[in-house]
Amino acid sequence: MADKRKLLVIDDEPDIGAFVRDVALDVGYDAVAAHLPGSFEQVYSDDLDVIVLDLIMPGRDGVELLRIMAEQRANASIILISGYDTGVLHSAQKLASEQGLHVVGTLTKPIRYTELEEMLNTIAFPSRNKPFDAIEFLELPTEQELHLALNNGELEPFFQPQLRFSNNSLIGVEALIRWRHPDRGLLGPNIIIPLAEQSGLMDRLAAEVLQQSFKQAAEWLRAGLKTRVAINMAPCNFKDLDLPEWMDKKIRQYGLGPDQITLEVTETTLMQELIKSLDILTRLRMKQVKLSIDDFGTGYSSLVQLHRIPFSEIKIDKSFVMRATADKEALAIVKMTILLGHELGMKVVGEGIEDQATWDLLTSLGCDVAQGYFIAKPMPGWQLLEWAMKQNNSNLNH
Ligand code: C2E
Ligand code: MG
Ligand code: MG
Repeated sequence: MADKRKLLVIDDEPDIGAFVRDVALDVGYDAVAAHLPGSFEQVYSDDLDVIVLDLIMPGRDGVELLRIMAEQRANASIILISGYDTGVLHSAQKLASEQGLHVVGTLTKPIRYTELEEMLNTIAFPSRNKPFDAIEFLELPTEQELHLALNNGELEPFFQPQLRFSNNSLIGVEALIRWRHPDRGLLGPNIIIPLAEQSGLMDRLAAEVLQQSFKQAAEWLRAGLKTRVAINMAPCNFKDLDLPEWMDKKIRQYGLGPDQITLEVTETTLMQELIKSLDILTRLRMKQVKLSIDDFGTGYSSLVQLHRIPFSEIKIDKSFVMRATADKEALAIVKMTILLGHELGMKVVGEGIEDQATWDLLTSLGCDVAQGYFIAKPMPGWQLLEWAMKQNNSNLNH
């Protein structure tokens, strides 16, 4: 059949290659196996949909082949296999992703039929008719469009609920920026943030999200819902010495309490930058605004830096939370982050909770606050109110 998906497996052990090929044939792929990594160039083609690659092979190892694929800008979905511990697989996976490759899964030997079958059945393939090409790239919104959008009120935060593990009650929401683009539909931060950075609009964007979030929190309050709001900030937003006073004034102007507001900064966004803003951060804390370290585990902050910045909360990066039930290294990071946060007197938020099993695991580990699609996806402000009403939440005072 012409439109069967194409799969190539490269493993120096012929038995394993044949096994993977047979599973793929069963699932309906057009599959071939190669067991000589040296022949890679002969078997590789850019119309492959899936490449299953053994990492450890004599002569040319899988990591070297990944580099070649990256040079060729391979579009295939890649599955990595290894007989070694999962640590090696994760390092290779990270390396591949950083080079722009699309790793959809990892397998450790011995490979189980059902595991591979499920992986092959669930790969989400990009549409064949719509490759990411130059024309599409040129169609990304321009700086000018973002300027106009800010003036026209096309940008608005969505809100994702956060629940206490202890009693399922709503503790707060995180504001996540969205752009209701008249032609392109709803755009997310992956488009908005880089564009705002290029155009020097990060402060403008932060002011917009802060004010809209305060306004929304005030509206919820009038409707009987008192909740906290967490807002994402970039390190460059902490340059203005008047920020603590501005923030304090605005918060009160909207009839809110400063302890209802949390500012989140991601760990990867250079701790060094933040240290320079230590006075501003400290004054914000003194005004009772909370500070949260986001995506914890993805950056390089030292314990000393963590201690110097007056954070009140730590958010475990979703990449670890999402893998914690299946992967012992991710679990170790989740466990240690909870311990560390608690030792430093911080609340710990688990982000990216997508199922009951992860909820149960984080509950058993003593995590304080839950956020993720298992609870709810980010939604417009009015919808969040309805959602909270339906939950019959204890924060509702009528
Ligand atoms: P973040 O602050 O770590 O926000 C959490 C992201 O994870 C959100 O993506 C959210 O939709 C997503 N998420 C939550 N639960 C789940 C889950 O269970 N599964 C999965 N797969 N994803 C989940 P979003 O909205 O695309 O935001 C991406 C990032 O963009 C944010 O990551 C934050 O760093 C940044 N960002 C968002 N809004 C703003 C903003 O107003 N200003 C700034 N400076 N950055 C923002
Ligand atoms: Mg965040
Ligand atoms: Mg995060």
